[in-house]
Amino acid sequence: MVTRKFFSVLSSSQFLENKARNWGPKLGATTVIAGETIEEAMEAVRKLNAQGLCATVDHLGEFVHKKEEAVASKDYCIRTLEAIDAYGVDCNLSLKLTSLGLDVDRNLCRDNMLDILAKADELNIFVRIDMEDYAHLDATLELFQELRRSYQNVGPAMQSYLHRAEQDTRSLKGVNLRMMKGAYKESPSVAYQKKPEVDANLLNIIKVHLLNGSYTAVATHDHNIIEEVKTFVREQGIPDDLYEFQMLYGFRTELQAQLVNEGYKVRVYVPFGEDWYGYFMRRLGERPQNIVFAMRGLLSK
Ligand code: FAD
Repeated sequence: MVTRKFFSVLSSSQFLENKARNWGPKLGATTVIAGETIEEAMEAVRKLNAQGLCATVDHLGEFVHKKEEAVASKDYCIRTLEAIDAYGVDCNLSLKLTSLGLDVDRNLCRDNMLDILAKADELNIFVRIDMEDYAHLDATLELFQELRRSYQNVGPAMQSYLHRAEQDTRSLKGVNLRMMKGAYKESPSVAYQKKPEVDANLLNIIKVHLLNGSYTAVATHDHNIIEEVKTFVREQGIPDDLYEFQMLYGFRTELQAQLVNEGYKVRVYVPFGEDWYGYFMRRLGERPQNIVFAMRGLLSK
């Protein structure tokens, strides 16, 4: 059976990555990755906007080990913000602190973020900090709190598989949070391992944050969770401008359209860039059935 671990191993294979680069995105990745350049990403966002969907773009990059790489990544984020403004699209920016140097030098990462947030603030664009593995959680939240003293146009993401997710959510009252199950393999000492527990905690933290009057982005393809959230906001009279749904580019597009038709705000997470291989393999690992979907993309080329 094809497992998450299998795709996780593939995602870290340098040999396969090099091969995949030569093949180009013909593996079927183009159905879930919006291209390799900022311009391609902006065209994809334009099409989403025309369908009533808003977006957040993420420039894919896997590992940053040097100061110059972190600064280059910051410059790319700023160019992306300028492109969002120039194209006039309804779009946020998503980023990872490790790509901005969190593992190289924490203060370098902070300075990079301050430059990005200053530009985003000037252009009135929201910046989402993706959540990475547990080893980066404390550093991410601590840096976020520091950034928030200067800027309000920024918010992190919360993983419901973590035992401490509710506690962290409560401590982030008033912050615009993205809520999702979590994508990394974590130890049972810090994370729930069973799907029913992860699902129940996702609903729990969404409800806690909404009842606290805080903006909540519900990031899931799980129709059961989405239905429960719809019922909850209706029953509790939660205002429409306090939440949105989010899904990944190319995933459950019929459900995205259905939610838009029902009048809900839906934001699509649009990954782009040359480093698409690891992202693509991780998505296959989360849901091996997606390989059928990927093959369809390959066959239609
Ligand atoms: P799953 O638990 O994968 O699926 C639940 C059920 O939904 C399935 O059993 C099936 O019935 C249905 N379903 C799911 N996918 C499909 C499909 N493609 N087609 C048909 N039915 C389907 N993780 C992080 O760790 N950090 C982040 O910052 C982060 N950001 C994210 C941003 C967005 C916008 C999204 C959508 C996800 C993000 N994730 C992030 C990943 C997330 O944590 C999950 O790993 C991922 O979304 C899979 O969980 P799920 O809730 O979508 O549903």
